[in-house]
Amino acid sequence: MNYKDLLQKQLAKFSSKGYNRTFTPIYRYQDTFPFTRIDLPNEKIKNDKINPETTIWCSNDYLNMSHNPEVINRMIEVIKEVGTGSGGTRNISGTTPYHDQLEKKLANFHQRDSALIFTSAYVANQTTIATLCKKIPNIEVFSDQLNHASLIEGIKNSRASCSIFRHNDLDHLESLLAKKDLDQPKIIVFESLYSMDGTETNIYDYVKLAKKYNALTYLDEVHAVGLYGKGGRGIAFKNNVSNDVDIINGTLAKGFGQIGGYIVADQTIIDFIRSFSPGFIFTTSMMPSIAAAATKSIEIVETMDEKRKDIFNKAKYFKQKLNLLDIPFIDSNSHIIPILTYSTKKAKLFSKLLLEQYNSYIQPIFYPTVPEGSARLRITITPKHSIQDIDNLIAALKRLFDSEKPEQSLNITARQNQVA
Ligand code: PLP
Repeated sequence: MNYKDLLQKQLAKFSSKGYNRTFTPIYRYQDTFPFTRIDLPNEKIKNDKINPETTIWCSNDYLNMSHNPEVINRMIEVIKEVGTGSGGTRNISGTTPYHDQLEKKLANFHQRDSALIFTSAYVANQTTIATLCKKIPNIEVFSDQLNHASLIEGIKNSRASCSIFRHNDLDHLESLLAKKDLDQPKIIVFESLYSMDGTETNIYDYVKLAKKYNALTYLDEVHAVGLYGKGGRGIAFKNNVSNDVDIINGTLAKGFGQIGGYIVADQTIIDFIRSFSPGFIFTTSMMPSIAAAATKSIEIVETMDEKRKDIFNKAKYFKQKLNLLDIPFIDSNSHIIPILTYSTKKAKLFSKLLLEQYNSYIQPIFYPTVPEGSARLRITITPKHSIQDIDNLIAALKRLFDSEKPEQSLNITARQNQVA
């Protein structure tokens, strides 16, 4: 068996379809964001004629909390107090007061009984769902067709039977639920904001269906926490059903700008996952300084209703311009703006030209992250993007969509001299 050969063949097949990924190393400078610098060898910059100074349009640091001075100070303070690593799993010397404080803060933030933190929201989803579905005999999972990979991995790992319903299609979900015996255990797994399309879910209707068919509900609020609902408490909170959802999952890495994930639920469910979930038990806990910085970040995010308004106003402005110019995009009320190129090749080409000619960095998104034939440039606007930045990007996108072969670059230099 030639293992290397086998792997290389699979890689070659993947690449031949254009699905190989190129990572772009960047410095997201605190003082100049969203204007920043790409870290590429000078030779490459010269040969490929790349301007290393660029504006980032695809960061999930939605509220710029990774750059917040109070959060940074809190992280440094705790590193100086107790060092960097936690030194153990939660059970074996890896629980600190900072971990406990973060869990209390999260429970309070979502106005739920209890919270449990994990090293990422991916791990939280994967291990919580796998554990629940393994331990509840004969459970049937109902999963939205566009659910995130971490939710799908959790379902697959549990080996539970799974019915997939069409994206946000409650009639389809109900028809699948109705096929099962009312007494058979069931869980509906869905997201409140689908991050690649920006579609928002009516959680109230899911909860109603779950009650009717005696099903548990598992809701991923990864792209909503920090941004939606009063204090950024998420879409379930905004819809007034936070307490009716059995388990809510969130991340500390996007709206809160740190790293890590969590679930909130009632005490019994949290105790259950804490006791049986391998992804929680058998891994070193998050750095204490991250737990402390995340707690500080949540405290600040709660007070940022004005910044949230600002993001949504700018996103609305952006979409109005796209509409006027007939640039294809998925319209929604969310802060996420997916500009559709449909083909992977075009998404890659536009991303390259934006970087090389228009000082704009937007990572192309294509299969398997989104279904084949729906490649896109996914734009996220943060409080630090100005209207001038938006106008510059719109002008560049117009050029690309008009000609697909721009002859000359726009002169987008307004913020170049701000780079550190
Ligand atoms: N759930 C959804 C819907 C996501 O989009 C992501 C990541 O982008 C995750 C979970 C995982 O979050 P984290 O980055 O905290 O692992």
